[in-house]
This record gives sequence, structure tokens and C-alpha cells, in this order.
Amino acid sequence: MRARGFGRIAAIALAVAAPLGVGAIAGPAAQAAATTTVYYSSTGAPDYVAQIDQGAANWNAAVTDVKLVKRSSGATVVIHEIHSGGSYTQTDGHGHGDVYLDTSQVAEGFDPTRIAAHELGHNLGLPDDYEGPCSELMSGHGPGTSCTNAKPSAAEAAKVQQLWRNGFGGVKGVGTRVTAGVY
Ligand SMILES: [Zn+2]
Repeated sequence: MRARGFGRIAAIALAVAAPLGVGAIAGPAAQAAATTTVYYSSTGAPDYVAQIDQGAANWNAAVTDVKLVKRSSGATVVIHEIHSGGSYTQTDGHGHGDVYLDTSQVAEGFDPTRIAAHELGHNLGLPDDYEGPCSELMSGHGPGTSCTNAKPSAAEAAKVQQLWRNGFGGVKGVGTRVTAGVY
């Protein structure tokens, strides 16, 4: 499972059905314009704080239905730093998860901001698409180390908009959970 250079994603059964207290829903869920806040913590990844913030900012610039906000406690997306095995995410694909950023992968030449934005993308509900171009975040390691794009494509942003249109309840039972993948 721990293929050299890249990690994987394992689905975890977190509280999708009971989102109380895990982020704020601004306004009634029925309003399409509502923004759901997903809190992330980067204190566990001290070498990549700036890159994580940039990755989150790139998502925030591209979508309006969900917003990533840093918070040291009470975060539902918790980012960690590891030193081998490959970057990966364990997430329900909808705002709850653990991200593991691998320093050795960065040492191999992969862009840490792109990795962070990619793993955040999993937490927003997107699967991997390794065959995709560098212009996609979710193509991950596919385009190689020369790819430093850390912004979602228009299609990726549109998909996240769709997934978060109804907040935390928006994709309940719809089968959007990320169940496998690497980087
Ligand atoms: Zn991935």
C-alpha cells in the first residue's frame, strides 16, 4: 500500500451524518449561496504552514460554497507531517480528515503547495485523476515534479461547488467519498 513516493487515501467513517459542531453553516442549508466553513489545522506540519495556507487560499479563491479557515483547535481537517511513505489523506471526502504531508516527497522535487492543495481537494470531495493534466490539482504526481500548479481547474472548482451546495449535508449518501488514491 505504501508505494514509494506516494501515499494513499483510506476512507474513514467519520461523522458525515452528524456534523454538529464541526464547522459553521452560514445561513439555511436551502440557500444556494450559503458558505460552509471547514476548519483546518496545520500545527502538525510546521515545515509547510505557508504552503498549506496558500493551498487553502487557492481553493477559497476558486469556490464560494465552502471556505477553508485555519484554526488551531476544533479543526476537522488536521494536517500532519511525515517523513516517508508518501503524502496521503484519510478523509470522508466532505470536510473531515487527516492529511499527511511527506517531507521526503518534497525532497524528491514535488511541490509542497500543490501537494497540500491536492490533499485538501480530497477533503473537499474530489477523487484522484492521475491521467489528468498539470492544470488539474487532482492529477497529483501524474504530471511529474515539473508540475507546480497548486490551483484547481475550473472543472474541479465547479465539482466542489456542486458537492458543497447544501453544506455538510450536501452529499450525504451520494457516494462521493474518497476511498482510494495516492498523493
Ligand atoms: Zn490524491
